[in-house]
Amino acid sequence: MEQHRMFVGGEWVDSQGGEREQILNPATGEAIAEVPRGTREDVGRAVAAAKGAFTSWSDSTPAERMGMLLRLADRIDAHAEEFAQIESRNVGKPITVSRADLPFISDNLRYFAGAARVLEGKSTGEYVRGLTSWIRREPIGVVAQIAPWNYPLMMAIWKIGPALAAGNCVILKPSEWTPLTSLRLAELAADIFPPGVLNVITGDGVPVGSGLVEHPDVGMVSLTGDVSTGKIVAKTASDTLKKVHLELGGKAPVIVFDDAAVDAVVNMVKFAGYANTGQDCTAATRLLAGPRIHDSLLAALVPAVESIKLGDPQDEKVEVGPLVSRQHLDRVAGFVTRARTAGARVLTGGDRVGNRGFFYKPSVVADVDQDAEIIQREVFGPVVTVQRFTDDDQAIAWANSVDYGLAASVWTRDIGRALRAARRLQFGTVWINTHFGLTSEMPHGGFKRSGYGKDMSVYAIEEYTQVKHVMAALD
Ligand code: NAD
Repeated sequence: MEQHRMFVGGEWVDSQGGEREQILNPATGEAIAEVPRGTREDVGRAVAAAKGAFTSWSDSTPAERMGMLLRLADRIDAHAEEFAQIESRNVGKPITVSRADLPFISDNLRYFAGAARVLEGKSTGEYVRGLTSWIRREPIGVVAQIAPWNYPLMMAIWKIGPALAAGNCVILKPSEWTPLTSLRLAELAADIFPPGVLNVITGDGVPVGSGLVEHPDVGMVSLTGDVSTGKIVAKTASDTLKKVHLELGGKAPVIVFDDAAVDAVVNMVKFAGYANTGQDCTAATRLLAGPRIHDSLLAALVPAVESIKLGDPQDEKVEVGPLVSRQHLDRVAGFVTRARTAGARVLTGGDRVGNRGFFYKPSVVADVDQDAEIIQREVFGPVVTVQRFTDDDQAIAWANSVDYGLAASVWTRDIGRALRAARRLQFGTVWINTHFGLTSEMPHGGFKRSGYGKDMSVYAIEEYTQVKHVMAALD
């Protein structure tokens, strides 16, 4: 079995406690690797390494940092197939999907590399007679970055890219289930960045994630994860008043007005509801259909979902793989079982598949009330619910009446209706006649309990900086 170590201060180290944990392949349930189970001492060692590297790293120029980030992006491209294979085995992602993610990931990094050089601030000027003022946009220092398991490499890049571009030193903690691509990334970055600038430590949320959040020398924590984890992180961070950046769960509505094109909606939901086995914070999970289009939409959606090819992620024809773990499979199955007991109709799916690995059938669930658990809580699996609304006001009200506010889509041929909906929807991203589109130049982040702070775009770089006002007497 593969054996890995952590990357701290430019060196490969075991955990100070010497413990290790197994990493599983979700398609088989078998262990494929072992990594160190980090401890609070490992957190201390990584923070000291990052702190020690910060002074000289923050003297680097944006152009120098850009050069290093571009070299890393080139290496990702050169190792794209290897990354795709590791991610497919560690997450259970179909290999074609893992491959398709790679060009976007290196593009994200190249964007951050360039954006390091175009930070903006208010114009220098004499806002007070005899005094001149300017602002500096400075790095925060040591930034802890805690990642989830659903897109391990992409989340690692969304985190380290803007933080390093802005001149911070980073400690990345991947999910305890999916650390393998982050460790490979550290290997490829090892001779690019000075020691201590980029550290990758493995281990569980507690004590490694929590240790980072508690540490007084960590200036900022960025977490992508569950809402419940976000609440704990925000509360814990308040003790040291460190800055917090939270990208949390989602429950994206797909509002389909009666004049929408059924085929376009079905094609998109077949993809965006089930891609990555529905383990996507922007997944098209809640279909809200107008009174006249509802039946024809369902009639087309169910066979489309039944045609999704589920199976071995290594098979090039497979579209949907397993869920990430046994615990998560039980969680997803529990949501559908409880909905069924409460009177919902499971139009397709609703079952596990086989005993090997963690597979669950792509599912469509209808006849659910707005206050049902399966509408209100993130399932994070291949499950799409369908509700029939009566008018535009009800559609918007239902879309908004969940705790989450990450992403939504609206489907209509009426531009005025689409624009009114885009204004009223309380989500960080609203798509019109599409779903799932992301681009490095535009921000991604939530409203409400989906968190605060943005990933990607220049807003992400700004998140990892602090603004300083310098004022000087002219005489
Ligand atoms: P999770 O919250 O269980 O874990 C996320 C990370 O937090 C892991 O590295 C974990 O070890 C760590 N962690 C756990 N407890 C901690 C604690 N007490 N202190 C500090 N760190 C701790 O989430 P997950 O199950 O890995 O990921 C799925 C979640 O992530 C879903 O809710 C999904 O919607 C969300 N997500 C959001 C976005 C976004 O951009 N908004 C993107 C991807 C995933």
